[in-house]
Amino acid sequence: SMASPALLMRVVASAYSVAEKAATIVRNVMAAGDLGIVEKTGANDLQTKADRLVQMSICASLARKFPKVTIIGEEELSTDEVNEELIEDGHCEEILKNTCPAQYTGIKEEELVIWVDPLDGTKEYTEGLLDHVTVLIGIAYGGKAIAGVINQPYYNYQAEAGAVLGRTIWGVLGLGAFGFQLTEAPAGKHIIVTTRSHSSTLVNDCISALNPDSVIRVGGAGNKIIQLIEGKASAYVFASPGCKKWDTCAPEAILHAVGGKITDIHGNPFQYNKEVKHMNSAGVLATLRNYDYYASRIPNNVKRSLVP
Ligand code: AMP
Ligand code: MG
Ligand code: MG
Repeated sequence: SMASPALLMRVVASAYSVAEKAATIVRNVMAAGDLGIVEKTGANDLQTKADRLVQMSICASLARKFPKVTIIGEEELSTDEVNEELIEDGHCEEILKNTCPAQYTGIKEEELVIWVDPLDGTKEYTEGLLDHVTVLIGIAYGGKAIAGVINQPYYNYQAEAGAVLGRTIWGVLGLGAFGFQLTEAPAGKHIIVTTRSHSSTLVNDCISALNPDSVIRVGGAGNKIIQLIEGKASAYVFASPGCKKWDTCAPEAILHAVGGKITDIHGNPFQYNKEVKHMNSAGVLATLRNYDYYASRIPNNVKRSLVP
């Protein structure tokens, strides 16, 4: 008989289905029309009913299947009493058909940390910029992002009738990333993607110093990594604190799985062990290709302003 699949592949296969359930919740809350918006630290740091329900769904579903895994979600909520209707117990069979990369076959539950952003791009969600929204489930081992799932609940929502709404992108280091068409950005052009709702003088000064051909301002860390892997942008530059470990873990795993690179603005890699500080205080710099071009042009005054 076949050996049972490696834990990592079972976690990714479950996270895939859990993220699809999450996407259904995100769409249902919007369709019902009552977003239940709460300000966290201020008007640009929001939580909706979808953020709350999805976090409970993801964390409770994964905790039930993998009780010894550490799960860290963005929202401060109890998952002690979760409505059974929020639980997803399925998994993606296709993912289990892949062989786990050899370096990850021996991983035990207690060695994994899962970083959950139930809804990335909440501000944009409340403003109807629906395809900026993603659900992020990042999987870390030894402090490194090694696998991830990004669901985009409203992918195709403005496409012609008949187009399938929503998609799920997943990846594992050493295996690759799937659910999208890897595309290079236009050669010789410097297209920067950055925040639309968390700009600052420093954010804008840093971008200007890179002499971009164009700047794309969109919401969501997940959405911006999608812009990189689909060739819409050549670099994601965010010279500001604000982005957290749950924003970068799943995107990092997928970007690294296809040969890209993401660091803070100084070039330091992010750490994802459970004890780590949540805030990415020194910003974000990510590319699919030509990382060194952008890294070498980050101005020193920008670096001095952003302490890791
Ligand atoms: P953005 O590119 O502005 O969509 O930010 C990417 C992620 O980082 C989102 O989850 C934001 O909520 C978060 N983020 C970035 N800057 C801030 C900030 N100043 N306050 C709160 N959250 C932020
Ligand atoms: Mg987020
Ligand atoms: Mg969020």
